[in-house]
Amino acid sequence: MRILVVEDEKKVASFIQRGLEGEGFSVDLAYDGEEGVELGAANTYDVILMDVMLPKMDGLEAIKALRSKGVSAPVLCLTAKDTVEDIVAGLDSGSDDYLTKPFAFAELLARVRSLVRRGTQERGAEITYADLRLDPVAHKVWRSNSEIELTAKEYALLEYFMRNPEQTLTRTMIAEQVWDYTFDSFTNIIDVYVNYLRKKVDRDYSKKLIHTVRGVGYVLKEE
Ligand code: CA
Repeated sequence: MRILVVEDEKKVASFIQRGLEGEGFSVDLAYDGEEGVELGAANTYDVILMDVMLPKMDGLEAIKALRSKGVSAPVLCLTAKDTVEDIVAGLDSGSDDYLTKPFAFAELLARVRSLVRRGTQERGAEITYADLRLDPVAHKVWRSNSEIELTAKEYALLEYFMRNPEQTLTRTMIAEQVWDYTFDSFTNIIDVYVNYLRKKVDRDYSKKLIHTVRGVGYVLKEE
């Protein structure tokens, strides 16, 4: 289980890190909002702990930025008591929670464990299509039993394909589902990412699974 801790008070950050590592979690630290978004988007975390008052970009902005990049990891906000109302208003996902400072480590650990559990249940069981297999808990993908290394975005895209096989997915649908964006100028980015994904998923195999539907979008299917 891997956890990202975004906290600018270094003492608090290392206190949390030591505690969680002692419980067997692996922990990455970020000391401001921008660094938090960078790490959160580049890696897959089971839970993100996000302080709200942060330099460069505050915690709520950072969560928004992560969500718009397709990061779905549950977030536990760490906040002072007098900002709780703002936090509750800012949390729009059922997988998010908050904890007021100061807190006991035991309480933090209980919340983290509960978010990990919830996240695991929501993401659920393995999905298979043809000789592709995707483990939504571990965020891993295999084709013919060899693991395919994907970036977070490529993974999100493939998961969307695999949850909707043999259906034409338009660029608009993909933009909304995988990027949370709707505008048209964005669609060539989708083509770029589909090509990345094809290189990893299809290039070494004679049977191609990702197909272009000319002028419309893409479909995952066996031909
Ligand atoms: Ca702070």
